Amino acid sequence: MALLDIVIVPDDVLHTKAKPVTEFGPELQQLIDDMVETMRAAPGVGLAGPQVNQLQRVIVVEFGDEEDDEVPPTLYTLVNPEISKLSKETVWGVEGCLSIPDLVGEVERSEAVTVKAQNRHGQVVKIKAEGWLARIFQHEIDHLNGVLFTDRTDRVFSLEELEAAQEAAEANGDLPEIPDQPSIG
Ligand code: ZN
Repeated sequence: MALLDIVIVPDDVLHTKAKPVTEFGPELQQLIDDMVETMRAAPGVGLAGPQVNQLQRVIVVEFGDEEDDEVPPTLYTLVNPEISKLSKETVWGVEGCLSIPDLVGEVERSEAVTVKAQNRHGQVVKIKAEGWLARIFQHEIDHLNGVLFTDRTDRVFSLEELEAAQEAAEANGDLPEIPDQPSIG
């Protein structure tokens, strides 16, 4: 396995649509293994092909239970993923991206999604996700379509501004509404 370089803005590859995967051979297996290793090392909870300069419709996501730290995180390695259902209900949340250093943004996303994809061996899988996991899938599948979170919101700010806002909220006795680790992938 090998660590891959993560492409950062402004690089055209991040705004380019990735191509469907048709071959499920050793090259794809190697790419997926390297993407998992790269995501874990970053660290992030998701990574998409274009972020490692591969215009292929591949995403890796690793995320645990939001409410239970004891449950080990689940690894998803999805090929040709598509969102087949989006909930009408939406939620705002603060996202970061491994390809956009030092910036975060408030993004409105569907609360729940159904994702249809193939696993790394080409078998069809269907995943229902809600909450933060649903947000991660939407963020990563956006990458395959050349869309970044900064294309979806004007409410973008620096990590320093985020920290200042959190401290101000705590000083006022308000519970911060933003997670400690907004980074997604
Ligand atoms: Zn990203």
